[in-house]
Amino acid sequence: MRHAPPAKISEEPKTDSSMQPPNHFPAIRRRMLLPLLLLAAGLSARGAVTPDAMPLPDVPAAVAGATRAKYVFLFIGDGMGANQRLLAELTLNGAKPPAPPAYRKLLMNRLPVTGLVNTHSADSWITDSAAAGTAIACGKKTANYVIAMDAAGKVPFDSLADAAQARGMRVGLATTAPLNDATPAVFYAHASNRSKLADIAKQAAASSIAFFGGRFKECDDKECLKEFRGAWFRPEKTEADRTQPYSVDRSGGDTPPLADITAAGIRALDNANGFFFMVEGGKIDWACHSNDAAGTAGDVLALDQAVALAVEFYGKHPAETLILVTADHETGGLTLGRAETGYSIHPKFIAGQKASAVGLTKKVQGWRAAKKSFPEALTALRSEWLDPGALAADETKALTKTYNEGQSAGEPGKESGLDPFAVACIKLAARRAGITWGSGNHTAAPVPVTAIGAGQNQFTGWMDNTELSAKIRALLAG
Ligand SMILES: [Zn+2]
Repeated sequence: MRHAPPAKISEEPKTDSSMQPPNHFPAIRRRMLLPLLLLAAGLSARGAVTPDAMPLPDVPAAVAGATRAKYVFLFIGDGMGANQRLLAELTLNGAKPPAPPAYRKLLMNRLPVTGLVNTHSADSWITDSAAAGTAIACGKKTANYVIAMDAAGKVPFDSLADAAQARGMRVGLATTAPLNDATPAVFYAHASNRSKLADIAKQAAASSIAFFGGRFKECDDKECLKEFRGAWFRPEKTEADRTQPYSVDRSGGDTPPLADITAAGIRALDNANGFFFMVEGGKIDWACHSNDAAGTAGDVLALDQAVALAVEFYGKHPAETLILVTADHETGGLTLGRAETGYSIHPKFIAGQKASAVGLTKKVQGWRAAKKSFPEALTALRSEWLDPGALAADETKALTKTYNEGQSAGEPGKESGLDPFAVACIKLAARRAGITWGSGNHTAAPVPVTAIGAGQNQFTGWMDNTELSAKIRALLAG
């Protein structure tokens, strides 16, 4: 059932044969230019609203209790626990929480229905994205690292993509991480181990997915996806690992933000039979592995911009659209508070960090290559990238040593080669802000799911991730 002929996408005709697999990026960019420019400015084409201020419609009881959803958006913030969602909100609001209506709340945090989701895998209280994604996509537990198969890697599971396609719906997958990484892969591939990236990319090419947004890694993706016949929004500029840059590192216009990719997906998927569209904020997890709060908050806000497009779509099909925002697991054991800062949190130290751990690593390497002294590097850091506040004598001594000793293997996590001075400065900013990271890995913390639209009432309570999947499947099949 997975390899049925792909849905025809009349709105996005293939351009020319030199662009195989099809790249609709330029055409989509032209048509979407105005709304995207407005969005980039924090505005909506409907008026001057940012996602946190965007009006949400009242959902009639008949819609909230519906048993069928025709247009389903599933936003997965990889690693995005409740505290990651609140961290992004703190950076919008400042040191003291303003009273409503001045309080700025993420759009995803304002959806009318909230539930909690347990994330453990078949073999561990702490899941990886493959097992968690399998549970969400297929409704079944498996072992860590397995893509949409049983724990032994023998029996393939069918996914929500199959369920949607069985109803004639189009299926789309978009991410800032690679498209053959675990979270998208569980919807179209089967693999005994998520590391089989080339094999997973081949399965993408043979799949009947109607829309891909993003890039594939460990294959020449134009070559690997030569046979793919759906629409593919393929950002040309990526990081070396085929991911999109962190939102906080964007210089504007160089690579499409997640909202841009999402807009392209909506255009490609919209049709009379409906669609299922999974959009992943994939690098929230990567930032959390690096304990990088500004990188995390920036990508949560970028995901919220993508959610805003779904809410706009909801306005056109209010009786038939369901929007869900959740996570596969929490990453980093993020705690909003720490012993030495008591009852205070100072989000300015996070909001004031203007580059991710990766972005800051590039800066620091440049300063070192230019033979900048430690005081010169510290001045450059403070003036533009990150103000760690007044340094105590022991902090100055430790930072000097870290800067002068230069390169090391960096911190463990998804990003390799982080500069130790960049990492030390980010840690210092987190300390000043009053936040704590308990881990460089995933945790067992439950994650929120928020919902609006057709069948929203089902997404309350404290559920298992397989139950979350079953509820979505029932609404697709209803
Ligand atoms: Zn992770």
